[in-house]
Amino acid sequence: SSVWADVPLGPPDAILGITEAFKKDKNPKRINLGVGAYRDDAGKPFILESVKKAERQMIEEGLDHEYAPISGFPAFTEASAKLALGDNSPAVAGGLNATVQGISGTGSLRIGGDFLKRFYTKSHEIYFPTPTWGNHTPIFKDAGLTIKPYRYYDPKTCGFDFNGALEDISKIPEGSIILLHACAHNPTGVDPQPEQWKEISKVVKKRKLYPFFDVAYQGFGSGCIDKDAFGLRHFIADGHTLCLAQSYAKNMGLYGERVGAFTIVCSDKKEQERVMSQLKILIRPIYSNPPIHGAHIVAKVLNQPDLRSIWLKEVKQMADRIITMRTRLRDGLKKEGSSHNWQHITDQIGMFCFTGLKPPQVERLTNEFSVYLTKDGRISVAAWLFSEKTRGIVIASSSSS
Ligand code: PMP
Repeated sequence: SSVWADVPLGPPDAILGITEAFKKDKNPKRINLGVGAYRDDAGKPFILESVKKAERQMIEEGLDHEYAPISGFPAFTEASAKLALGDNSPAVAGGLNATVQGISGTGSLRIGGDFLKRFYTKSHEIYFPTPTWGNHTPIFKDAGLTIKPYRYYDPKTCGFDFNGALEDISKIPEGSIILLHACAHNPTGVDPQPEQWKEISKVVKKRKLYPFFDVAYQGFGSGCIDKDAFGLRHFIADGHTLCLAQSYAKNMGLYGERVGAFTIVCSDKKEQERVMSQLKILIRPIYSNPPIHGAHIVAKVLNQPDLRSIWLKEVKQMADRIITMRTRLRDGLKKEGSSHNWQHITDQIGMFCFTGLKPPQVERLTNEFSVYLTKDGRISVAAWLFSEKTRGIVIASSSSS
């Protein structure tokens, strides 16, 4: 028999598989709400002006295509750490952050998972909020960690199960790793309030857990990069040493450029040096060094005051459009005669709305109406397009990937 006769056929990706099904659908009114990619009012991908300007500069400067260092360009990694931890972060000022460029959020999470597996000796168990982004499980499983849940989302209120979360976290074995979404929780759109972050930080400290922050949407939740970093920065101010993975896919619209960063905040400078050396040793045999194009863009946008101020406005513009879409969707449902309480649509935040639709309802939407969304009832709010002419919910007809 042939060499791969025993390789079983795997299932399509839970999220990207939806796009494949969507592309096959012949219905002209088909709509893809499955993938989390921002769309403008015309339903088209949005290229940020700040990004365009940075790219123009890069061409004018005649940037070459030489290798980046294993850990990425310092201008990028420093700016990235400051964006997450704050301009006045004592950790960054003291050089305590070991920051490496990663292959967007996914690759940065994976570097983190691999590092923890190799060097974090207290535990190889990582606790995820229920539910969490579908890819978290294979990322950390493939890194060799064991996945455990803590309560997060309350299906009854379509909101944050604060008490459930605190109760579960207070029972997590000491030394375990805990994954936290910094903001705009995917898939639920449900975030803790500042006062709740403070309580969570206390319990995490009491249990001596190691926090791993996933920062995939900074600026995308509230429209403000500092507000969206509140939880993360509070944890640091509260004395936690922690790690974080960042992505520039959403907040700079650099999805396909695969630019992100992984940071471990260390206790002292010597520790930072040791950790940094091992991150490089870990990265070298995987991809040697990261891609340069996106990193140059991000470094320019974050470091040049003129580009940065344009970017900050654009982040807010994207977040505001999503917030407006939420209101319109809620109003639209009411206008169409739905008596259901849809308040959670506007309470939730970020790219996604966790509608509360059950799998049979999702199936019906897809099969009868060609509306594509994930089985858990998650929709990408940014993909809705509203037309005054039809006064209803129409289609962002573009096919996202
Ligand atoms: N974390 C979360 C919670 C996400 O939603 C995403 C994007 N869907 C990512 C990380 C990483 O995305 P990317 O690899 O495209 O940066």
